[in-house]
Amino acid sequence: MTTIAENIKALNGELPDGVKLIAVSKNHTGDAIEEAYAAGQRRFGENRVQEMTAKHEVLPKDIEWHLIGHLQTNKVKYVAPYVYMIHSIDSFKLLQEVNRQAEKAGRTIRCLLQIHIAKEDTKFGFSPDECRHMLAEDPWQELRNVSICGLMGVATNTGDTGQVRSEFSSLQQLAAELGAGIMSGNADFRELSMGMTHDYRLALDYGCTMVRIGTKIFGERDYSQRLY
Ligand SMILES: *Cc1c(COP(=O)(O)O)cnc(C)c1O
Repeated sequence: MTTIAENIKALNGELPDGVKLIAVSKNHTGDAIEEAYAAGQRRFGENRVQEMTAKHEVLPKDIEWHLIGHLQTNKVKYVAPYVYMIHSIDSFKLLQEVNRQAEKAGRTIRCLLQIHIAKEDTKFGFSPDECRHMLAEDPWQELRNVSICGLMGVATNTGDTGQVRSEFSSLQQLAAELGAGIMSGNADFRELSMGMTHDYRLALDYGCTMVRIGTKIFGERDYSQRLY
């Protein structure tokens, strides 16, 4: 068994410069996060608002909290005061609510648009066309308190690496298309969040700038108990 610190060190050694490691700490304890923190890790990803908020309250204040799970509009207010980045924007309505709560909190919140790239229909996100239409038709440029920083995707959970590569490639292409097109005036639009424990090495081939890794750092999650 390797320690959390060793796992983080190994990943930092492996990831190219410019690829940010988001340590996905969902369903792991504050102690596990402190161990990663002591090893220098500052970016953590969580998928539940309540759990992330409880951890934020007790853990060091220089942690960057990344929300990577589905976000309901009625819960935005709990994370708006502190969240570093929301990776899971999947509707204009949600973006509007993030803007509203960010304004109330006196800040600008970094957001990624989640794109549905997987074959599985359980995954959230815009389809590429829904995303193009939203950016073309909805008045997102009027939202002064959100910054659209890029795209996020979750590939199909499969051992078929050809399938996973084609999904990552499609996300990379969409990011390039938008970056050269409707988002070209937007210097913040440069992040591509893709790759998890089982597929991050593939994601590195397709220009990801953020990988979201949990199991490889913290070990298997035990869902038989809710920690928060
Ligand atoms: C849980 C989760 C991850 C991390 O998964 P691992 O397989 O443990 O690395 C990454 N992204 C999202 C959206 C997740 O929900």
